[in-house]
Amino acid sequence: METSLENLLKAFVTSQQRITVLTGAGISAESGIPTFRGPEGYWTIGSEAYRPQEMATQRMFLKAPLAVWNWYLYRRSVCARAEPNPGHRAVAGMERLFGDRFRLVTQNVDNLHLRAGSTPERTFEIHGNIFLMRCAEACSAALTPVPAAFDDWPRDREISSGEAELLRCPRCGGLLRPHVLWFDEVYDEPFYRLTTTLAAARETDLLIVAGTSGTTNLPNKVAWEVSRRYKAVIVDVNTDRNPFAALAVRQGGFAVTGTCGQILPEILALFQAA
Ligand SMILES: [Zn+2]
Repeated sequence: METSLENLLKAFVTSQQRITVLTGAGISAESGIPTFRGPEGYWTIGSEAYRPQEMATQRMFLKAPLAVWNWYLYRRSVCARAEPNPGHRAVAGMERLFGDRFRLVTQNVDNLHLRAGSTPERTFEIHGNIFLMRCAEACSAALTPVPAAFDDWPRDREISSGEAELLRCPRCGGLLRPHVLWFDEVYDEPFYRLTTTLAAARETDLLIVAGTSGTTNLPNKVAWEVSRRYKAVIVDVNTDRNPFAALAVRQGGFAVTGTCGQILPEILALFQAA
């Protein structure tokens, strides 16, 4: 790590400034979770094969709700088998160190940050959480855990009629849906913390971007809001060059090449030593 970055991180600790960490698929890939945008995410319904961008839609849920559930139950089991890595644990360590000066914004739905010790109060899961479900009819905003009956769900198992009953809303009898943002939906505050996330970005003095390459809209807005703030610094941690690295460097920040599991613990150690 460059000396100027080390000095900046140390000086941050004794300031009263605020830090936001923004994470994406890269940090969870290091725990063995595929993005599901590639071949792992392809899914067959009847004789048709569908791409993830078709499966993760309200349109598909309306057409084939149990097939969409099946896909998510399988993905949920993949996430449940994975373990948080040193990158996740370093992020949780930063929250413990900085308390209310800290926010985590994650694109990941895999629950690994919370399992690593990040708190729900300061963690904004802007694409939802695959372990939770809610009423598809929106009769209430309540989030409930996906039942344990669906644990260890193999890729090719069908949902029985008895199991399908567990996916019905206890209030209105309509279908429940996975608590995730679909490709044909938009960010909002009640479910995805849109307003809260942008407000946090506007108060951020140090943004650490880890394992995301800026393909979706809200993470880009977060980085943009931070970049407009006077003297705010962006540090990008990634295994390869990406738009966030370019933005960071253009704004006088830093692009650190490496894995989240390697670099984030180094950053935490610098914070702790200051
Ligand atoms: Zn309902």
